[in-house]
Amino acid sequence: MKLTATKTIYASLFSLLLILPITATASEEAAHPEKAKWSYTGDTGPAHWGDLAPEFISCKSGKNQSPINIDTYIDSKLPGIKMDYSLLVAEDIVNNGHSIQVNIRSGGTVKIDDKKFELKQFHFHTPSENMVNGKSYPLEVHFVHVNDANELAVVALLYQPGQDNLALNPLLKNIPMNAGDSKRLGAKDVELFERSKTLKNYVRFNGSLTTPPCTEGVRWIVMRAMPSISRKQLNVFQQALKHPNNRPIQPLNARMIIK
Ligand SMILES: [Zn+2]
Repeated sequence: MKLTATKTIYASLFSLLLILPITATASEEAAHPEKAKWSYTGDTGPAHWGDLAPEFISCKSGKNQSPINIDTYIDSKLPGIKMDYSLLVAEDIVNNGHSIQVNIRSGGTVKIDDKKFELKQFHFHTPSENMVNGKSYPLEVHFVHVNDANELAVVALLYQPGQDNLALNPLLKNIPMNAGDSKRLGAKDVELFERSKTLKNYVRFNGSLTTPPCTEGVRWIVMRAMPSISRKQLNVFQQALKHPNNRPIQPLNARMIIK
């Protein structure tokens, strides 16, 4: 039961995360055609993001940055989060060179702090960005939501090594293998999760986007249950991305992780 629920959550989350980054990127590029190029290695890698452009300043001066190592947390009996993806319609799946992202047209919501957030996109990182007790995992998906006030909420799911995860297969067969490529998604291609569910067993904290401009004020929800992914399935992500796309762990500073 736990596994099935987790798979459902995965699928749902994926869809959520993608839309926001794409919108921001599109508008920024229109305004600044020479927009700073960033990457995961060398002179344009994570250690230099904050110096690549004035608008990336949070990447080096922020105090609430993501990802983090989740080791200790405060048990405060957080309420369940109502997730409703029952009317989810996906747009496409994109290999943008930084990640594999599924853009969502409409139909996915979560309710956090009595506010309604809409799923914009979901995308993958390999290996995981957040760690648990100092341990890294092979894959992490970020479901990115936004509300009317332009606040962000990310629901994250980490995968552990194991058996084939059947819920991932429809997406895997559609992953564009080259940067810049995209593919339209049909209704059946995102049937990888329960369409509506109350999320329990999670931790939350205040964090940021894990890619430039590293914007803070993001509500992070990390699910504690971890679905499996097989070596063969992971290979597809790795071959499409051609490089690791995880930002290193950031200091927790004054933040608390709440369960
Ligand atoms: Zn992400």
